[in-house]
Amino acid sequence: MRKSDFPIQAPRGFKDILPDDQKYWQFVFDVARDKCQGFGLLKIDLPLVEYRDIFSRSIGQTSDIVEKEMFLVSRASIDAPDPEEDISRPMVLRPEGTAGVIRAYLERGMETWPQPVKLYYWGPMFRADRPQKGRFRQFWQFGIEIINADDAYTDALTILFSWQFFQALGLQKGIILELNTIGCANCRPKIHKKLVSYYETYQSVLCDDCQRRLITNPLRVIDCKNEKCQKLARGAPQIIDQICPECNQHFKSVLDYLDDLAIPYELNPQLVRGLDYYTRTIFEVRDTKDTSRQNSLGGGGRYDNLVPLLGGKKTPAIGVSFGIERIIAKIKEENIEIIEKGYGQILISQLGEKAKRKALSLMMQLTDAGYKTGIVFGKEGLKSQLKAADKMAVKIVLIIGQKEVQEKTILVRDMEEGNQEIIEEKELFAFLKKKLGS
Ligand code: AMP
Repeated sequence: MRKSDFPIQAPRGFKDILPDDQKYWQFVFDVARDKCQGFGLLKIDLPLVEYRDIFSRSIGQTSDIVEKEMFLVSRASIDAPDPEEDISRPMVLRPEGTAGVIRAYLERGMETWPQPVKLYYWGPMFRADRPQKGRFRQFWQFGIEIINADDAYTDALTILFSWQFFQALGLQKGIILELNTIGCANCRPKIHKKLVSYYETYQSVLCDDCQRRLITNPLRVIDCKNEKCQKLARGAPQIIDQICPECNQHFKSVLDYLDDLAIPYELNPQLVRGLDYYTRTIFEVRDTKDTSRQNSLGGGGRYDNLVPLLGGKKTPAIGVSFGIERIIAKIKEENIEIIEKGYGQILISQLGEKAKRKALSLMMQLTDAGYKTGIVFGKEGLKSQLKAADKMAVKIVLIIGQKEVQEKTILVRDMEEGNQEIIEEKELFAFLKKKLGS
């Protein structure tokens, strides 16, 4: 068999996260988790696989995700079907997090928890889209959902959360927050009628997808990225002029809150977002330097009808999700310095065969005493070990070579002050207590 018959490669659109990049992932996750804790959000981990109907009923049968981008999961063997399982229900790799969270809300009895239920998730999503820069088939999202809250205050909180998340990442300068409202279910027939009568005149100019969308979901024609459709969208009737007085008041209140908080935003009447479940306030955070179609770093909105669409009672909710790969690309582009979290306070560095045994027993003693201790193993020289310790923000490096083993001493390097001294082995604990506290 020729080697090229089976190129050793990951499937198209799927990537590895290599060790060099881990510090960025850890940094974004730490910032995300800290922000969530500050806002009282609880973490939920969801399965990577859900029944397809969870998404077709919520995101919408005519959305790009459901129509074109789902990865179906097939069971290897259907010879001996599990009698407990309905095999007529196809399973898919989850393309997003919100529908799964709501499935869990209904299935796990969260309706009886103190309301609103405030959750966050972090993990990979899968969409069989055409891979390109910033668009992958497996990509990671961090998202929050606030379930059972209908007031404009919650919308403002969700937007404030998003803004503060980018601030904490050091990215607030290169981004823009775009906002729009798409009204509620009651406003939808009026909006659709207005859009259809506008677009019908230009039907032949619309792309093939939009000619179809004009019948199935006219709102989505505004969102189309085709140049000709975009040009038409600029002249389309504005959604905000068609919404009911309640939705209008709701949006006004959201903007009032944001003005009070001095959060900068731009109103974008062409923003509709591609998923059917959205109602009222929707927003997107974009990279201002990136003019490509993949410049959205995160997006969200209110979805007051999603819980009923999945069989629950009327439960207004709002959420937002952020694309981690795109955020990390932006962090790199902006040269934001990340301090790598290392082993902790102490790193033990050993040079030579005899020092290895000493280093291991020292590691055990220090860990038993409660010090966060790491150890270098491998054949690197002292210089590169110290360089690594510096990058990992370790406070103290204990260096043990042949000479130290013989003389029962330790060479201690204070990484913050940059000096080093030799101490007697038996003095180590008293020394560390003085330096680091007990
Ligand atoms: P969405 O669920 O489509 O609203 O996406 C939320 C965020 O996830 C976007 O703003 C992007 O940052 C990110 N995202 C969505 N699709 C992809 C993809 N195929 N590849 C990489 N990131 C994505």
